[in-house]
Amino acid sequence: MQAGFLPRARFQMLLDTLQQAGYRCIAPRVRDGAIVYDTLTRAEEFPRGMRDRQSPGVYRLERTDSPRYFSWANGPQALKPFVFAPREPLWRSERKDDSVIHFSEIKPAPERLAVIGVRACDLAALRLQDRHFLEGPFPDPGYAARRKNLFLVAVHCTHPADTCFCASTGDGPCATQGFDLALHESDEGYLVQAGSDKGRALVAPWALVPVTAAQQREADREVEDGARRQTRRLPSRNLRDDLFANLSHPRWEEVAERCLSCGNCTAVCPTCFCHSAADETALDGHHSLHVRQWDSCFTQGHSYIHGMTVRADTRTRYRQWLTHKLGSWHDQYGRSGCVGCGRCIAWCPVGIDITEEAAVVCRGGAHG
Ligand code: SF4
Ligand code: SF4
Repeated sequence: MQAGFLPRARFQMLLDTLQQAGYRCIAPRVRDGAIVYDTLTRAEEFPRGMRDRQSPGVYRLERTDSPRYFSWANGPQALKPFVFAPREPLWRSERKDDSVIHFSEIKPAPERLAVIGVRACDLAALRLQDRHFLEGPFPDPGYAARRKNLFLVAVHCTHPADTCFCASTGDGPCATQGFDLALHESDEGYLVQAGSDKGRALVAPWALVPVTAAQQREADREVEDGARRQTRRLPSRNLRDDLFANLSHPRWEEVAERCLSCGNCTAVCPTCFCHSAADETALDGHHSLHVRQWDSCFTQGHSYIHGMTVRADTRTRYRQWLTHKLGSWHDQYGRSGCVGCGRCIAWCPVGIDITEEAAVVCRGGAHG
């Protein structure tokens, strides 16, 4: 539902209304040379006129004369850290005077967060994380509590980076579902669309002027243009059979010569959900904390089972990442685990490109 047009001079009203409704606003800002999500209270803190240049192993910001706040593609974060916490204590144990060990659950105490500037690819990734954390036989209580308290303000993407390929995965650049509000940004302001009852209730008192047919046409043209400018693509939306027919492809060895097994790609990937658990014991010998933290299929510990690491070398770790992400996700979740955000390409220190690797491994013939 198109709610109306919000001139940029009134953009602060979005932040004010969300805060009055009890939300902490998380929005993009420039920090340490990148666009990151942070707590913001003022429209002036948004990255006005900034644009990103991304390519394999490269992320740079440039200042332009544009009055827009969202004329960039994405930064290293997606929604993942706000729902799947990078580090989360799950329970504590305590040895009391009776020498008996007592366990107590640490219940999540999430606050209401409004995230502004969510991209279509990140909404698609959130949908995948929902499948994993909420729709299995054991829903994750921490994720569920944080997810319930999210208010999502999407912004359709009109400035894709060279690393983006959401059009080829079918996940962008236009946000079509999963948001409370969606904005299209023009030089003058925002075409506001409500996607939920919460979104409709939030904007109802604003008395926005209707969007004109010319504004809508121009918005549609900009989004379509953004999709057309994307040059990267995956060979297909389902590479499962091709990948598993090529487990012995020589390319796995070649990519392993460049890959550092650093795990950057999995940390920035909005759909990766691997984690490990650790017990942190206090020096007094009476207290211990059980903590869940992000892990990566590139670490030695990730595939450690009693007495051995199953994937001991980089070749098998990279192959595991790619064949899971683009292959066996189809068995688990009915689609690929890649939403085309391109983050793993830009933030890989040696510029390994998932679209290139998938194309080489899957091109012509099996090496299985
Ligand atoms: S695999 Fe790479 S491009 Fe695909 S969703 Fe993850 S980070 Fe984005
Ligand atoms: S592919 Fe790149 S980001 Fe991923 S582990 Fe290898 S070097 Fe690191």
